Amino acid sequence: MGGRIEARFELLRCEHCGDVIGVYEPLVVRAGDEVRETSCAAEPALPLAHAEHYHRECYAALKRRSVEV
Ligand SMILES: [Zn+2]
Repeated sequence: MGGRIEARFELLRCEHCGDVIGVYEPLVVRAGDEVRETSCAAEPALPLAHAEHYHRECYAALKRRSVEV
């Protein structure tokens, strides 16, 4: 039961396409009703627990699709 070492550079994966999101790539974080754009470089705390992470392009595509309902 030693202290678990946190993976500080855990790879972020896009919820939409499953691809890795690069450290310097813009990404969208969705946590409940809150959606914001950031990047791993700007926010070392990412990935956030209980949040979804998307490539900016993937999130834009999702939004476009949901508008077409
Ligand atoms: Zn993606």
